[in-house]
Amino acid sequence: MTGGQGSKKPSGSTSVPLFLAHSLELETDAMERYRDLSGILEEHNNGEVAKFFREMERYAALHVDEVKEIAKGVGGIPYVAPWDYVWFTPEPPEVAPMEDAHYLMTPRHVLGMAMECEKRARDYYLQIADETQDEEVKRLALGFAEEEGQHVQLLVEWLKKVPAAPNDWSEDLDGPRSSD
Ligand code: ZN
Repeated sequence: MTGGQGSKKPSGSTSVPLFLAHSLELETDAMERYRDLSGILEEHNNGEVAKFFREMERYAALHVDEVKEIAKGVGGIPYVAPWDYVWFTPEPPEVAPMEDAHYLMTPRHVLGMAMECEKRARDYYLQIADETQDEEVKRLALGFAEEEGQHVQLLVEWLKKVPAAPNDWSEDLDGPRSSD
């Protein structure tokens, strides 16, 4: 494979470089979104909650570094046009839904949001691992899925330490919302 076939669109994570391109996009988006959210929360003196997002931002940043390291060994990451990324969800899986952001968010709500993101990222990698014909993509995807699983676990642990507010307005942390 020489790549650069202008007529053919990349179709998802079909090779290691394309897999890394997707992963880099996913983790960079997550990092930036978490950073934006902690910025908003810090501005509104919601320091406790902002701290959670700073932590999540740090994990995404570590993942970005890891992807770049791996990419060095496979000749770099190819450019993928925004419309050529193939996700299983409308947005990259690890992106925190901005419309859910609110500067008065409770720690429980924030943790729930972050958990949804991390679960979607984990499921994305698991699905790639499941569908790929490429053994190396499979190996990497399983490794990344495990990392995302650890992030989910971390959030579960945090959540145990955060008491439920008496009038917590978002208690739908355990599943997808079905409010319409
Ligand atoms: Zn993660």
